[in-house]
Amino acid sequence: MLIHNLGYPRIGSNRELKKACEKYWSGQIDQHQLLDAGAKIREAHWRIQREAGIDLIPCNDFSFYDQVLDMSCALGAIPARYAALAEQLEMSELDRYFAMARGYQRDGHDVIAMEMTKWFDTNYHYIVPEFTREQTFEFTSRKVIEEFKEAQAQGVTPKPVLIGPVSFLLLGKEKQAGFHRIELLDRLMPAYVQLLRALKDAGARDVQLDEPYLVMDLDEASRAAYQSAYATLREAVPELRLILTTYFGGLQENVELAVSLPVHALHIDLVRAPDQLGAVLRLLPESVSLSMGIVDGRNIWKNDYTKSLALIGEAVVRIGAARIMIAASCSLLHVPCDLAEEDNEIALPGAIKRWLVFAKQKLEELRHVRDMAGSDARGSVSTQLADNIKDIESRAQAALIHKPHIKDRVRSTSVEDTRRASAFQERQRDQRNALSLPLFPTTTIGSLPQTAEVRQLRTRLRKGQLRMEEYEADIKKRIEEAIHWQEQIGVDILVHGEFERNDMVQYFGEMLQGCAITQNGWVQSYGSRCVKPPIIFGDVERKEPMTVKWTQYAQSLTAKRVKGMLTGPVTILQWSFVRDDQPRRDTAMQIAWAIRDEVRDLEQGGVRIIQIDEPALREGLPLRHADWETYLQWAVEAFKLASSGVQDETQIHTHMCYSEFNDIIENIAKLDADVITIETSRSQMKLLDVFARFEYPNEIGPGVYDIHSPRVPSQEEMVSLLKKAADVIPAERLWVNPDCGLKTRGWPETKVSLENMIAAARELRQAELV
Ligand code: GLN
Ligand code: ZN
Repeated sequence: MLIHNLGYPRIGSNRELKKACEKYWSGQIDQHQLLDAGAKIREAHWRIQREAGIDLIPCNDFSFYDQVLDMSCALGAIPARYAALAEQLEMSELDRYFAMARGYQRDGHDVIAMEMTKWFDTNYHYIVPEFTREQTFEFTSRKVIEEFKEAQAQGVTPKPVLIGPVSFLLLGKEKQAGFHRIELLDRLMPAYVQLLRALKDAGARDVQLDEPYLVMDLDEASRAAYQSAYATLREAVPELRLILTTYFGGLQENVELAVSLPVHALHIDLVRAPDQLGAVLRLLPESVSLSMGIVDGRNIWKNDYTKSLALIGEAVVRIGAARIMIAASCSLLHVPCDLAEEDNEIALPGAIKRWLVFAKQKLEELRHVRDMAGSDARGSVSTQLADNIKDIESRAQAALIHKPHIKDRVRSTSVEDTRRASAFQERQRDQRNALSLPLFPTTTIGSLPQTAEVRQLRTRLRKGQLRMEEYEADIKKRIEEAIHWQEQIGVDILVHGEFERNDMVQYFGEMLQGCAITQNGWVQSYGSRCVKPPIIFGDVERKEPMTVKWTQYAQSLTAKRVKGMLTGPVTILQWSFVRDDQPRRDTAMQIAWAIRDEVRDLEQGGVRIIQIDEPALREGLPLRHADWETYLQWAVEAFKLASSGVQDETQIHTHMCYSEFNDIIENIAKLDADVITIETSRSQMKLLDVFARFEYPNEIGPGVYDIHSPRVPSQEEMVSLLKKAADVIPAERLWVNPDCGLKTRGWPETKVSLENMIAAARELRQAELV
């Protein structure tokens, strides 16, 4: 049985890649130094994998930005605007690549970046390939060949990782009307053939082709594309052993299709979908090997060897050990690098650490499992199994994890707990009386600029260079300035600015019981951006108020209303490593109870408007349509549990980003928030289409300007957007706000933009009066 790794995290165990890229972008190092940093990271990762005894070590899993963008470049799918820019400025291939990823605004050039979107249901974002009707492809970039040779020079014969042709097309987007991207397959295949031939000539024996779309709902054209694409490849490069990888779910009705493709091996995800093993074993042709994804590539829990060995045992009986490879469920891109870097006993106690494994430790698990499956469990192998059983059992019983009173609370949740006392119309009347707001009330989404100084305060606090009192006094000073400034420009509902929060999820993760925060558990989110997801290891509860003192302090400074700011249960869940020993729904409900406690304390502390952000509600949607309903049901239930424990007069807001709400708008309405502020400014028209179709019952603030760029929107622009909104949403239900939090912006543009926004709201009020 071979050990097979699908991909290693590329950022480096100390985020070396992030640091090098950012230095290059700001001109602190040159291209040579950046390339060198990349080579060092690859070298280290190949070494780690070789020492861990991995048989099939990946190459081309490294990327300076994103593996899908690398594929677009390898296949010559370079949108014309970048090709032209690169030619005009005589850019290097790497600079053109970064221009595609990040846009190019300099010396009078203004080329926007390619679109970015979520990689299936992970928190990784990829750069969306763009296709035109006349799209041509050509094998151009040599990156994959060069990295192959680089590994060879280090004594590794690596397995290049490529996105398979069908998934590559399906991941992209048509930039013109009148064709479907899957129709480009015949034009695409020659480029893949060239690429594979070049790899073969360089000495490759195995090639991994990622086809995650095989676990999605597929139409007839895509199924046909799979058959034709893989027949072409088989014929063109019969010498190469193609490993077809699927992950993030089960093949389900696509299983016949997947096993019929002429490849050397099929990889399946047995963490997300262990049930598919039976069907795959039954149908797999004798010529095809099976790569069993048994170690979780997306989560950080220690593998349950007993379970894994049972799955492998089942497969050995059916198809024999020689045809089996042992692997993680997917690339390890989605987990942090090395648990050994976590040495802070207070942040992450040993008692919790014993349940965890990061990428490097997962390689060891693969080897352990393989050795155990291949032997009769004697000697050192049986100690590993015994230790593993102890760790797994300790998780099942640990008092640190299991708190009966929390489980009881979730179990006893009643329908009343998830419902406001009165219907929206009554609440709206009471809230109007209590708040006496003007027409088109203005507000912001919560955070104000998190300047370098604010972030430095936290670094200094952590390093012990600043005492807690000093830190808090500084934050208070910023809140005070923010409140006075908002009063002065005439915002109706003020915010305290979230200066005390490092991140909207981490902040709560640090305070909730049942969550742990790592020191160095970084995971790539996109490009050089990394996140440090909290680890939800146990039953979650709130020990003490988390936000009340800051909001109350802000409220004490003004006669206007200050809005309390919380992150919702679904978003906390979605952006964390979630325990895998109970349904996600149960964990969401525990978090919801904790947030509900906070909401109640805010209300009792005199806060009359409370916003519960759920920007990740939509991205939690399962990959298969058939599973949407169940998810949406508990996601809505969790939000309602968190938000329903208040008086009618207390106004609940929620906020969502990413504007594709068309297909779930009914469920957003079911949240029954009194007000929703929503990101729309980049596709205002699209969102308004939804409201023409579906009458959203409560109040709504469609974002009137895009906070993702420093551009200052004019008053006229925002007036015109608001007028368009007022065509489909009654004016008395409209709010005026930016489309997301302002934490990534600087103060200068924030000030002017918000002044313009207030002026726009005032202009509209005037217009309504006449
Ligand atoms: N309240 C948060 C903020 O303003 C919301 C952020 C988000 O939607 N991603 O920063
Ligand atoms: Zn947002």
